[in-house]
Amino acid sequence: MATAPQPRTEFLVGGAWQTRETTAPVTDPSDGSVITEISVADVADCRAAVDAAAAAYPDLAARPARERSEMLRALFEATTARSDELAELISRENGKVLADARAEMSYAAEFFRWFAEEAVRIAGELRRAPAGNRTIMVVREPVGVSVLITPWNFPAAMLTRKIGPALAAGCPVVIKPAMETPLTALALGEICQEVGIPAGVINIVTPDDPGPAVGAMLDDPRVRNLSFTGSTATGRVLLKQAADRVLRTSMELGGNAPFLVTADADVTEAVKIAMVAKMRNGGAACTAANRFYVAREVVDAFTDQLTKAMRALQLGPGLDPASGLGASVSLAERDKVARLVEQAVAAGADVRTGGTVPDGPGAFYPATVLRLDADNPILAEEIFGPVAPVVAVDSDEEALRLANGTEAGLISYVVSGDRGHGVQLARGIESGMVAVNQGVISDPAAPFGGYKQSGLGREGGFDGIAEFTETKYIGVDL
Ligand code: ADP
Repeated sequence: MATAPQPRTEFLVGGAWQTRETTAPVTDPSDGSVITEISVADVADCRAAVDAAAAAYPDLAARPARERSEMLRALFEATTARSDELAELISRENGKVLADARAEMSYAAEFFRWFAEEAVRIAGELRRAPAGNRTIMVVREPVGVSVLITPWNFPAAMLTRKIGPALAAGCPVVIKPAMETPLTALALGEICQEVGIPAGVINIVTPDDPGPAVGAMLDDPRVRNLSFTGSTATGRVLLKQAADRVLRTSMELGGNAPFLVTADADVTEAVKIAMVAKMRNGGAACTAANRFYVAREVVDAFTDQLTKAMRALQLGPGLDPASGLGASVSLAERDKVARLVEQAVAAGADVRTGGTVPDGPGAFYPATVLRLDADNPILAEEIFGPVAPVVAVDSDEEALRLANGTEAGLISYVVSGDRGHGVQLARGIESGMVAVNQGVISDPAAPFGGYKQSGLGREGGFDGIAEFTETKYIGVDL
């Protein structure tokens, strides 16, 4: 195993790394050991970060788009050059296997490249009013200081997906990473400094109690935008808070992805796709396939092959190349998954593999396959772990009804022997994204986001920058 670099333990405000006496441990969930202690930011520090961002705003917004584009390009180059080291850090603090951490780093860096390209293409409009009495001129301006809050499951990519469009549009940011995985964010902060992003444009704060710290920032009139990725429950709390100041918000919230397999599907192919859709990141992704609705004609073959593939995954530390499945981010997260499975079994689910917490240290949970009925309560929960519940269905109509029978609507998966049939089903599904015969469709060039309670707004693609711009209409008779 390669030795990991020394992680940063201070937080970043106005271009200066800050040390505090109060510290918080960051642990390696594969054995519970403390990787390091980081300085904890208090409410005053968070306010100071807003001061720094506000001070950096006029200069950033006034720079030519080309300059901001080149900053992003430099970030792409630098994160790519350091991606092995960053992947190792992600694996250590998050628990995911190195292959997943490397894939995350490549995805994360691509957001910088995509938004470097987009920064110089922020378009306006110029047209004549239908009445002929004026010209309608529409320009896009940066929304202003933005607070970015990110979760622990993709410590790098969830951040670059927000930093990319913010910088492209000309918005300084205050970042509040998850305290389970702050080291990756701090490493990205260091890279921002190294490539010459001006002081105050990227600030990172690490409060141990996010409520009051984020509350103080959202109350500050200079903060104009909140971009959040996390649970629907926390998103709802933040939306209520944001309402007081009618703050612009982007919300990437929880999912409960259905995975439909039609009767004409190639089962071996469907299982390959299912393994990616379910097990990328050990199942700890809002995009993870969460409910498998499989045509009765193929459900036994699908379940058997999926069980075999899941059983073959070796459970172990993320940094061990032999591991096919790493640890959950914490014992608390692991126990949540275990509890959901226990409840599912109590409600009649049949365990085909996994389903029990292994002995020994570390936040491990095995790859698990359940066969169950459509009314099992686990199907209403976002599992966020390596558990695949499989339900037999008798028609496309039933599959669609079950797929849509939830308040979540982030992503769905369809596997069919006929891609046209797959797209037809995709049109019937209420979710912001649908993967047809693909296990992963996340792409910096595509709009990521949900219907219903899975969120508001889109990240990536052409829509990503819109979340960080205001639209200004200037009416003039030219
Ligand atoms: P999870 O349950 O996966 O940890 P959360 O939605 O709780 O998801 O966390 C996502 C991010 O939101 C983390 O950075 C976390 O610290 C932050 N967070 C949690 N609660 C609050 C809150 N009340 N106000 C602001 N941020 C919060």
